[in-house]
Amino acid sequence: MTVAEIIDGKAVAAEIVAKVTAHTASVAGSVVPGLATVLVGEDPASQVYVASKSRMAKECGFHSVQHTLPRETTEADLLALVESLNNDPSIHGILVQLPLPDHIDSAAVIQSIAPEKDVDGFHFINVGKLGTGELDTAFVPCTPAGSMLLLERVRGKDLSGLSAVVVGRSNIVGKPMANLLLAANATITIAHSRTANLADVVRQADIVVAAVGRPQMIEGDWIKPGATVIDVGINRIPAPEKGEGKTRLVGDVDTPAAKEVAGAITPVPGGVGPMTIAMLMANTLTAACRFAGVEQPK
Ligand code: NDP
Repeated sequence: MTVAEIIDGKAVAAEIVAKVTAHTASVAGSVVPGLATVLVGEDPASQVYVASKSRMAKECGFHSVQHTLPRETTEADLLALVESLNNDPSIHGILVQLPLPDHIDSAAVIQSIAPEKDVDGFHFINVGKLGTGELDTAFVPCTPAGSMLLLERVRGKDLSGLSAVVVGRSNIVGKPMANLLLAANATITIAHSRTANLADVVRQADIVVAAVGRPQMIEGDWIKPGATVIDVGINRIPAPEKGEGKTRLVGDVDTPAAKEVAGAITPVPGGVGPMTIAMLMANTLTAACRFAGVEQPK
């Protein structure tokens, strides 16, 4: 019986943040990276995400500005704010926290962000660059970019000859992840809610990326022995063993069972989650360095 290596996302994320902080200090004479976060409404999870992004930006030595707008904000007012941030030379990265309230067209807001400040990588220009392999000038969405770095720790940069299954086809995780795996020479399959015989599809894969949003859906015996499993899912489930009304976080993979079969696996929490915010910092620094024409972080 094998027991999978646990890929420590917290440690890798800390390394990235340390590198970003050091590079920020080294270019301080030329540019101070500026990150603007925009939150509309009072969604508690979004408040936590935005606060931690702003806090981390300050820790990296960035200029960090948080715009918190009431739920009733009109689309026109939000577009005007984005426009002013697009024109602000002290801001290099703009992050509009999703989801936005229903009366605002999220796609219109995201497409209004200047592509060179789109550190989430959701603008069509950046999506197109990723799709055509123009990775040197693209911004890649943070969660798949972080997932690739975790994968690199066990499989290296070149995935030639390896098969990968991505379960989930969202624009934020599944599709960009598949493009990154393809760019790294993996042979990819994208599975989703209409895929037949999902267990058999997953069983073929040397690399499994789970981005579904269904707690522990990927079972242990779906995993090919020795496969690398990247669990992107973050799901809160009841944890009566911790006390009445308590909850805990789990991924989209049945980790205890998958650990017995996989070669390596990311934990939840402490796997992909911390990488997302670290990659946002890395993207913001890159944006600032491109803007100022100074050396970009490696
Ligand atoms: P979405 O809901 O946008 O997409 C989910 C995908 O899973 C869809 O493509 C859907 O298929 C597919 N799916 C749903 N049910 C099944 C099923 N039974 N079998 C196969 N496929 C299925 O989610 P996201 O991509 O935004 O997020 C996925 C997970 O990753 C969530 O748990 C989320 O919390 C987490 N996440 C974690 C982040 C992090 O920082 N670690 C960041 C972002 C997300 P279809 O397209 O056919 O509907």
